[in-house]
Amino acid sequence: MFALVGAAVGSFLNVCICRIPEDLSIVFPPSRCPHCGHPIRFYDNIPLVSYLLLGGKCRDCREKISPRYPLVEFITAIFAGLLFWKYGLTPAYPVMFLFVCTLIVITFIDLDHQIIPHILTLSGIPIFAVLAVVFLGLTFIDAFLGIMIGAGTLYFVAVYYEALTGREGMGGGDVNLLAMLGAFLGWKALLFILLVSSLLGAVVGVALVVGKGKDMRYAVPFGPFLCAAAVLHLFFGELLNGLFFSLPG
Ligand SMILES: [Zn+2]
Repeated sequence: MFALVGAAVGSFLNVCICRIPEDLSIVFPPSRCPHCGHPIRFYDNIPLVSYLLLGGKCRDCREKISPRYPLVEFITAIFAGLLFWKYGLTPAYPVMFLFVCTLIVITFIDLDHQIIPHILTLSGIPIFAVLAVVFLGLTFIDAFLGIMIGAGTLYFVAVYYEALTGREGMGGGDVNLLAMLGAFLGWKALLFILLVSSLLGAVVGVALVVGKGKDMRYAVPFGPFLCAAAVLHLFFGELLNGLFFSLPG
C-alpha cells in the first residue's frame, strides 16, 4: 500500500525534476506531453500503469514517452516500501521519505543539467536539520557540525582541485548538498558518505572510460553519488560504522 502511494509521489517528483530547473511552478499547469503539448488526461496519468497501457507512447502524438518517468515512479515506490519496512508507522517514516524524495529529485536534475538547484539544498539545510533534531533524536550540535563540516570539506576539495588542475571539478551545488546531508544525518555520517560516494564515483568513472571510451576528464556529476551514499547510510550506516569506523560517541 505504501509503495502504491510512493508511485503516486514519484509521479509528482517527475514534475519537480522537469520544472524546478526551469523555474516553473510545480503545481500549475497540469502535466502536458513534452512533445505535442497536449494536457495529459487524468486516466493516462496513473503511475507506472499508464506507461504500460499506452505502450510508452503519447496518446495524442504517438511520440515515445521517456522511460525515465516510470523509472522515477518505480524508484520512489521501492523506497516508500523499504522505508516503511525499516521504520514502520513512526514519525521517522514520513521524515525519511521526504529526505529520500528530495535526493531523488536532486539526483535526476543533476544528471540532466549538471546543476543542483540552490532552492532545494539551501531550503533543505534548515528544514532537514530541524526535522532530524525534532523527530530523529539528532542533537543540535550534531546537525550544526554536519552543516559546517559538510560544506567546509567539499569547499576545500573544490578550491584545491581547481587550483591544482585549473578545472572546476566540484560545483557549489555539491558543497550545499553535502551540507544538507550533514544537517540531516549528523557530522559522523559525512566520513561514510565521502568515502562511499568517491568509491562509487571512481567505479562508474572508470566504467565509463573503459566501456564507452569517454575522456577521463568527462565530468560525471557528483551529486548522484552523494545521494546514493546518503541513502546507503540510511539503510546500512549503523552496520558499517560499527564494522569500519569506531567513531567516538
Ligand atoms: Zn504528445
